Amino acid sequence: MRVRGFVDARGRPSLDFSAEAALGVLCTRCLRPMPVVVEVQQTLAFDNAEIDDELDLDTIETLPMVQHLDLVELLEEELLLALPMLPKHDACEAPGPATIGRTSVFSGLQGLMDSTDGTT
Ligand SMILES: [Zn+2]
Repeated sequence: MRVRGFVDARGRPSLDFSAEAALGVLCTRCLRPMPVVVEVQQTLAFDNAEIDDELDLDTIETLPMVQHLDLVELLEEELLLALPMLPKHDACEAPGPATIGRTSVFSGLQGLMDSTDGTT
């Protein structure tokens, strides 16, 4: 996690932070755990003034000025927002009667029967 404090072009105290976290979630297809790496990069500006949409066309988030900022809490929120809504493995199958294991067993049996047929 990197945090950088600075004063932006409009003289507002600002914070630049980025973080990366590996979280464990369940795949929505096969229901097995899958690791998800979420990256967050955010610039925050502290400003008590009303946000002017004309001026704030950039992606900078504005927070009201606070005495104490809980950076960990803020970061947790941002990481949760960055999580995929429906996480899925790139390639996996939904659990069902035809699992990969059984399919390979049957195909092996099929090969055995073919060879016996050939010899008789
Ligand atoms: Zn999966």
